[in-house]
Amino acid sequence: MDDIIMRLSKSPYAPVKMSLDSEFSFMCHRGLECFTECCGKIDIFLTPYDIVRLKRRLRTSSEEFISRYTTVAELKETRLPLLMLRMADNGRCPFVTEDGCTIYTDRPVVCRYYPIGFGLMKSNHIGEGDFFFPIKESFCLGYREEKRWTVRQWRLSQEINIYDDVNKFWFDIILSKKAMAPKLVPDEKSQRLFLLCSYDIDSFRRFVFESRFLKAYVVDTDTIKKIKEDEVELLKFGHRWLRGVLFGNPEYPKREQG
Ligand code: SF4
Ligand code: SF4
Repeated sequence: MDDIIMRLSKSPYAPVKMSLDSEFSFMCHRGLECFTECCGKIDIFLTPYDIVRLKRRLRTSSEEFISRYTTVAELKETRLPLLMLRMADNGRCPFVTEDGCTIYTDRPVVCRYYPIGFGLMKSNHIGEGDFFFPIKESFCLGYREEKRWTVRQWRLSQEINIYDDVNKFWFDIILSKKAMAPKLVPDEKSQRLFLLCSYDIDSFRRFVFESRFLKAYVVDTDTIKKIKEDEVELLKFGHRWLRGVLFGNPEYPKREQG
């Protein structure tokens, strides 16, 4: 297990490693006594696409969403700052009511995986070397239901593939061996840049289109058109650009001064 670098979900038990083909029984529905029990006192790491979906859902800006609903955490394996959903004062998720999740169709990827936790492996692209484990909290009655799933079927049913596709360049950054090299502890400026490109899409848009950015970096016209029209493309572009800034060998190099 040496090359496991991070788990983005927690389990109170020692993890049993599962693969995409591992099976489990589970069904969650509001008829269960434990309904919404799982929506409190949990660590929910947010991915960049989670924040785009949530800020759209709540009709707010990324800046406002981040300041109102998130806290910054640093996983010990990497020095890059990651955002987590901030629980309300009562320890519950800010989006849960007695009727369930109020943002269900845009819930974060960690909630989509539940009751499965997932971890990411060093130097792998997401989907190739990831591992999974049952979270199995004692209050969760969904495990007693008969419906059987493989992890692969569960991921598809929860539309996790869509999130993987948007987040893949970002996972490349946080999983990069370079991000974990002790000599490459990001300075404050790199940490700010990481937060901007990872999560704050509205500020990043201004950074690209309202500064000297497009004069300073070589970006082809097709890409400029695409990222102007499509926020998700802008997010993916930001991750590719950031990868070059943090680790070298940029896809979008700086223009020669002349
Ligand atoms: S079955 Fe598990 S996941 Fe579903 S509401 Fe109950 S505790 Fe939450
Ligand atoms: S986002 Fe929804 S599913 Fe996730 S913890 Fe909050 S209420 Fe529960």
